[in-house]
Amino acid sequence: MISPVLPSYARAPLSFTEGEGPWLISESGDRYLDLGAGIAVNALGHANPRLVAALEGQARRLWHTSNLYEIPNQKALAERLVEHTFGDTVFFTNSGTEAMECCVKMARKYFHATGRPERYRMITFSGSFHGRTLGMIAAAGSEKLTDGFGPMLDGFDHVAFGDHDGLKAAITDETAAIIIEPVLGEGGIKPVPAQCMRGIRDLCDEHGLLMICDEIQCGVGRTGKLFAHEWAGVTPDIMAVAKGIGGGFPLGACVASENAAQGMTAGSHGSTYGGNPLACAVGCEVLDVVLEEGFLDRVSRISGRLRQGLEGLIASHPDVFESVRGEGLMLGLVCKAPNMDVIQAGYDNHLLSVPAAENVVRILPPLNLTDAEVDEALRRLDAAACQVEGAS
Ligand SMILES: *Cc1c(COP(=O)(O)O)cnc(C)c1O
Repeated sequence: MISPVLPSYARAPLSFTEGEGPWLISESGDRYLDLGAGIAVNALGHANPRLVAALEGQARRLWHTSNLYEIPNQKALAERLVEHTFGDTVFFTNSGTEAMECCVKMARKYFHATGRPERYRMITFSGSFHGRTLGMIAAAGSEKLTDGFGPMLDGFDHVAFGDHDGLKAAITDETAAIIIEPVLGEGGIKPVPAQCMRGIRDLCDEHGLLMICDEIQCGVGRTGKLFAHEWAGVTPDIMAVAKGIGGGFPLGACVASENAAQGMTAGSHGSTYGGNPLACAVGCEVLDVVLEEGFLDRVSRISGRLRQGLEGLIASHPDVFESVRGEGLMLGLVCKAPNMDVIQAGYDNHLLSVPAAENVVRILPPLNLTDAEVDEALRRLDAAACQVEGAS
């Protein structure tokens, strides 16, 4: 008999009833060190007192009005994002995939509004992930996402990751945009080299295309910059943000330049909940913390400590681990042993991590992890690796 919850997830047999910073606590009181942070969502840890206060304060005043009316803290959050990014304007959503949908609709509308409606196709890269709507599974294009859900939405051309010549060849008179995750998340924590980001920007400029960055996983301080594209010194025209921006409250955003957004006039797009007062109260507080003096530098410093420790683990467990890659606190341990064996051994040692493609174990802890918590994480990963070695 089918379970009351649709069995569309392969869940671990763990459940948690409380959280505290980087710790998740089970009903029986067991404490797990959470290096997954709800897949890069709990950017400031669980039950962060500042976020709790922001949410509770808003919950007592007003939950929801719809976008029929002005929403003061939505405006404040948009102003914050505009001030600290390339963007001039922001549309709010409830999830990452909706933010990407807005990016794609906006890019199509831009070419429609500027008299070139034949330019509607977008180039994406193999191994990318943009969410689970019909539009965004077509965008990413992998068999794993699309199998059985056809026919697919037309308008996406897929190029192998890292194939610059293939990318050039894929640009036609119908191309509107290139879509890229500056650090592939689900695809295995693969940073796009800075020179490739610049190459994509140059191609976009040369051919009059829009550059769309999916920063849903790598944005909001995760890599040690507010947004990952900043490392390459390039700016996109449109960017999708979600996950960390809400710190656990569902919130996404499509950030755009004034030029790219010119087709999005009143009535062209909408969302009942998008940017509602509860979500924006939390979003504002998350940004306040992440933009505090020294916060992002601290992410980079903690990342250095963690990464150095991981290099040590790789050296002492060469049959389990192969290498570490990524940026900031978005790290991927490329494994030799099956990644799920490492993750399972992690569970046994009360350590949570997340799998990704290419046999990678993702390390995406809260951004405010302390030195002592990094050391504790490394001890537990070491114990997990010993267990994997013992089992083989
Ligand atoms: C998680 C993710 C999405 C989808 O976000 P949802 O909130 O699950 O819709 C899209 N793109 C990237 C890069 C992601 O990591």
